[in-house]
Amino acid sequence: MDSAIPPVQFFRYCPRCGSANFNQLGDRAKKCAQCGFAYYFNTSAAVAALIFDPQGRLMFARRAIQPHLGMLDLPGGFIEPMETAEEAICRELKEELGVTVQSMEYFGSFPNEYPYSGISVFTLDLTFRVTVVSLDNMVPMDDVASIEFYYPHEVDLSEVPSNSIRLALHKLQEK
Ligand SMILES: [Zn+2]
Repeated sequence: MDSAIPPVQFFRYCPRCGSANFNQLGDRAKKCAQCGFAYYFNTSAAVAALIFDPQGRLMFARRAIQPHLGMLDLPGGFIEPMETAEEAICRELKEELGVTVQSMEYFGSFPNEYPYSGISVFTLDLTFRVTVVSLDNMVPMDDVASIEFYYPHEVDLSEVPSNSIRLALHKLQEK
């Protein structure tokens, strides 16, 4: 699971013509010498929500799926094509937890890399402080084992595999 390799090394054949002359161009692109097809392995945009309870504790979702099964995560996910980050936050929180966003404020962007299906996935996690209409009637989806709240300085970092969440926790504690 953790032996992830960069996509530029993993994709060995041109997906258009099947040629093995699918050559690396810089750190994140490949170009086929046979047919000219070129592909850039760009960072994916994602969103993450910082939601606090009335005591000032931060909400975490404990993951029920790979990658990072059993570890702590922030609610959020990938931004869909042609979607805004704000729309993605509202959609993800509705899908993942069944909650409705009341307001949000941009907090910062934090890069992440994680292993999935044998390769490294790179994301930029656009992170927002989010207030929801109510925390009382959350309905977590199947990929969430439990919802847990911790003060940012009390989070056990050995349970936080994500670089982006560690960076967000660090920034929260600077203030
Ligand atoms: Zn080709």
